[in-house]
Amino acid sequence: MDRLRRDGALPELGRVARGGAVAEDSRCLDQRARRARDVLGALVGAGDRRRGELQALLDAVQAGSEALADSQERLQAIFDNAGAGIGVAWENAKFIFVNDRWSNMFGFSSEELSEMTIWELCPADDNKIIHENFDSMADGLLDSFQVENRFLNKDGSTFWGTASAKAIRREDGTLENVILIISDITLLKTTEADLIRANQLLVTQLEEIAILRDRLREQAIRDPLTNLYNRRFMEETLTLEIHRARRANSTVSLVMMDIDHFKSVNDQFGHRAGDFVLESLGQMLLANTRKSDVACRYGGEEFLIVLPGSSLEDAARRAEHFRLNFEAIRISGKDRSTNATMSIGVACFPDHGEDGEQVLNRADEALYQAKAAGRNCVVIYQPK
Ligand code: GH3
Ligand code: MG
Ligand code: MG
Repeated sequence: MDRLRRDGALPELGRVARGGAVAEDSRCLDQRARRARDVLGALVGAGDRRRGELQALLDAVQAGSEALADSQERLQAIFDNAGAGIGVAWENAKFIFVNDRWSNMFGFSSEELSEMTIWELCPADDNKIIHENFDSMADGLLDSFQVENRFLNKDGSTFWGTASAKAIRREDGTLENVILIISDITLLKTTEADLIRANQLLVTQLEEIAILRDRLREQAIRDPLTNLYNRRFMEETLTLEIHRARRANSTVSLVMMDIDHFKSVNDQFGHRAGDFVLESLGQMLLANTRKSDVACRYGGEEFLIVLPGSSLEDAARRAEHFRLNFEAIRISGKDRSTNATMSIGVACFPDHGEDGEQVLNRADEALYQAKAAGRNCVVIYQPK
């Protein structure tokens, strides 16, 4: 009894009267009762824990679905307010979803678009690339592409856009959806085209300016009647050529010409005939000089040729050639014709002077000697 009381377990009345065996039975009974209590206690504890876990799970699911709803709302807001058109198409390129911007860009409602393919939104003559790229995506050859293309609005107008496409595939790799993003770049294209046009115009204008500048420069350095260089240009060139010859230890020869009795040509045949003689002499000199030579009208009926690199003898030979050619030109009047002649003086740098001016003076002196010698001849400067 003491032990039952001590353990607090209920006695089994039928066994108490059987002495030692009863006591043994009673101990077993106690042990089993204790184990049962332990198991019961453990079960109750486990149930409490599981309930707690379930509650935590329910709370997490609740929080997760709220977060999901939040993020879906955010995603929807992003789609609706995106500056670009966003569309999702099936693997057959027909649309499942488009955002508001997309509908506005193309003028089609989402219901209408659900029956349309992306390439139906391009002008017929400009949808090849998008169509081909889509086919490549469906064939698994391409996962994304970006094209610049013209797109078609429901009202028939077109606009320029860049389209970016990304394939979404199933686990087996087959195409499930395609996400498309289109940005309107019409303004950019128009600006670009305007810029190209403005640039072309600028290039044309610059070319015209260059031509005008060259023409102006030519006008500034040429004599209009004979088309030969003028005296100012000759003087600049002569200075440069003398410098160059001095550095290169080379020569510069000068051939100075003056038409004989030109005043009487004018008097007999008229001023226009005189002009014709000057023009003809200009043409003859241009035809008989090299690119490196400088043929110029030095004064009214005086002419000078600068011959860089030419020796005195070579210059004299060429001077004689000029003289003969000039003499051959016929000057025709009303009832008669004649010819004119010219006297020529030749001098050379460095033999006859240290600079351009000195050599010019020497050529002039030689010309004076040619006049004095009876005209229509070539005289090489002779130092006194
Ligand atoms: P010389 O043999 O001594 O050189 O005699 P010249 O008559 O040629 O020389 P002068 O200096 O006396 O006369 C030059 C003439 O050239 C006078 C001028 O009217 C003429 N002359 C100058 N420039 C032009 C021009 O542009 N056209 C015409 N037709 N004549 C011109
Ligand atoms: Mg003269
Ligand atoms: Mg003269």
